Amino acid sequence: ETLRVDLGERSYDIVIGTGLLDRAADYIRPVLHRPRTMIVTDENVARHQLPRLEKSLRDGGIGFDTIVLPAGESSKSFARLEKLCEELLDKKLERKDMIIAFGGGVIGDLTGFAASILRRGMDFIQIPTTLLSQVDSSVGGKTGINTAHGKNLVGSFHQPRLVLTDVTTLDTLEPRQVLAGYAEVVKYGLIDDREFFLWLERNGRDLIAGDREKQIYAIKTSCAAKARVVAEDEKETGRRALLNLGHTFGHAVEAECGYSDSIFHGEAVAVGMAMAFDLSVKMGLCPAEDANRVSAHLTEVRLLARLTGFDHPVCKVKMTAEDLMKHMAQDKKVADGKLTFILARGIGKAFITQDVNPQQVREVLELSIY
Ligand code: NAD
Ligand code: ZN
Repeated sequence: ETLRVDLGERSYDIVIGTGLLDRAADYIRPVLHRPRTMIVTDENVARHQLPRLEKSLRDGGIGFDTIVLPAGESSKSFARLEKLCEELLDKKLERKDMIIAFGGGVIGDLTGFAASILRRGMDFIQIPTTLLSQVDSSVGGKTGINTAHGKNLVGSFHQPRLVLTDVTTLDTLEPRQVLAGYAEVVKYGLIDDREFFLWLERNGRDLIAGDREKQIYAIKTSCAAKARVVAEDEKETGRRALLNLGHTFGHAVEAECGYSDSIFHGEAVAVGMAMAFDLSVKMGLCPAEDANRVSAHLTEVRLLARLTGFDHPVCKVKMTAEDLMKHMAQDKKVADGKLTFILARGIGKAFITQDVNPQQVREVLELSIY
């Protein structure tokens, strides 16, 4: 399956399928300026999947060097960025070489940012290996690192030349990571594709359990939705903000957990989407039936059950509505002192607004954490 992200001369293909990693050379070759690549990956992906990529490049006569970074969000730092740039230059990186980001969103964001500043901007390819990166972070060109002031505050827009998504890489991913990525899949249904949400209600569990056909269909549908929004609003001056559904609440929960592994991003987004629908109902905008349906599905796949209450083993942090309100006030999406929320008139009918009553936000938080 091939999708196209339409951005004029920066357009690129997203290729989705099974076993693509073993034929990577065939897909990569057409976008190379010369047959030399630099693979950047992390230790988990290196252990489980790197031999497949390296074999394909070797057999295909494409040169490569590999840099293996520590796994985890802490790699999205100034310190790691500096080290990565120096290491790439040590390996005699030239402007016409191709950088390959091979891993989840952490590797994609860091490597994409490095590519955007090395030698004033180099081409790179995304080979995403987590469900989250396959449906979200590998598409759209947002790259960056975290700072002491918060997540993703330093970065650039830098589109890849190709996204190569092999669903077989998901086989070695921890089930909890697959589930976290699934939250972002549900997000696309909730934003503007009710049919897709209904499909997920019927097929989501199979997809999570590893059904290839269903994974491919869901990833394709998600990427098509993201590609559409990105083509309309690459730099997020408007509609692209819809992709933040569940994220205003979600970021507050993540921040309260200190961005630790006690809660994964996708898990926080699941909680956040349920809250966004609850708030929409409270404001009289959305039928309660739709909000219940969202919660029911997230609970069914075990994305909510493990989190409501926050005394679950996964997230032991005790938090109050007050704490979360404070974090939201600091969120980067505060513009002119007003928080931007993504709310919904129903499943598949999300919209952007700054018109929310803080008291109602507090009430939703109080109902959701107990
Ligand atoms: P991640 O990259 O940390 O990967 C999660 C874990 O899975 C890591 O431990 C990794 O080593 C391991 N892993 C990855 N692929 C594997 C595989 N196939 N088999 C076994 N283990 C594997 O996390 P993520 O959830 O992919 O991405 C999260 C990051 O993405 C965050 O930093 C977030 O800010 C960013 N993000 C960016 C965008 C964007 O538009 N640029 C969008 C959403 C999220
Ligand atoms: Zn997200």
